[in-house]
Amino acid sequence: MAVTELWIEGDRARGAVDSDGKRYAARHVVVCAGAWTGRFEDLARRVPRAGRIEPVRGQIACFQVEPGRCTRLLTTGEHYLVPRPDGLILAGSTMERVGFETVTTPEGQAELRDFARRLLPFLRHVEPAQGWADVRPGLRGVHPLLGPVPDVEGLYVAAGHFRNGILLAPISGEVVAALVAGEPPPVEIGPWMPRKAVASNL
Ligand SMILES: Cc1cc2nc3c(=O)[nH]c(=O)nc-3n(C[C@H](O)[C@H](O)[C@H](O)COP(=O)(O)OP(=O)(O)OC[C@H]3O[C@@H](n4cnc5c(N)ncnc54)[C@H](O)[C@@H]3O)c2cc1C
Repeated sequence: MAVTELWIEGDRARGAVDSDGKRYAARHVVVCAGAWTGRFEDLARRVPRAGRIEPVRGQIACFQVEPGRCTRLLTTGEHYLVPRPDGLILAGSTMERVGFETVTTPEGQAELRDFARRLLPFLRHVEPAQGWADVRPGLRGVHPLLGPVPDVEGLYVAAGHFRNGILLAPISGEVVAALVAGEPPPVEIGPWMPRKAVASNL
């Protein structure tokens, strides 16, 4: 089901509307649409930074070697190598602002292959077995956006996690659950809270 619109009446979130125009009533609405979050115009108008969440493509290249050839996570700058117990080594990742095109490219795969071979020269004799690509919810500056939307009761955002959405998923879930339950969040969320369109926010 694709949500096309948030259902907001006055200062209260009422639910969501799908592509067939069907309305889904809810007391609490959490916008957690990843790289697509900026498409909700109602939200972007109220919280300009939500409208700036943009897709940033990341590609991975995978090498299959004998187990034990690499046993440590290696990182340098934006790139990293992640070894799996079965001998698969993931080389990541590219940072590409090319919209929602989730395809691998020869250039992206070459970037990762060359990086991997610089760190682990034995990979010069191994061709990548496979590659894949997906989009991250990119947001420049302080991110993610996490918390209640100002002036709309029952509306929350949990988006813009960029390169760390897997890492931050548990705490983001706990924060949203606490807010929905009317309890204080388990961590201070001040810096990540959605803000209205004011000069300091632009
Ligand atoms: C190559 C690569 C490597 C990465 N490595 C790591 C890593 O090692 N560690 C880490 O922490 N993070 C990593 N990330 C980043 C991580 O994947 C993202 O930060 C995370 O997926 C964001 O989670 P999300 O739930 O906000 O968005 P998503 O995972 O994109 O989920 C959003 C969901 O909303 C749905 N949706 C969107 N619009 C609508 C709509 N209108 N109606 C209904 N549903 C909708 C989408 O279909 C999607 O299922 C990596 C990303 C990439 C691309």
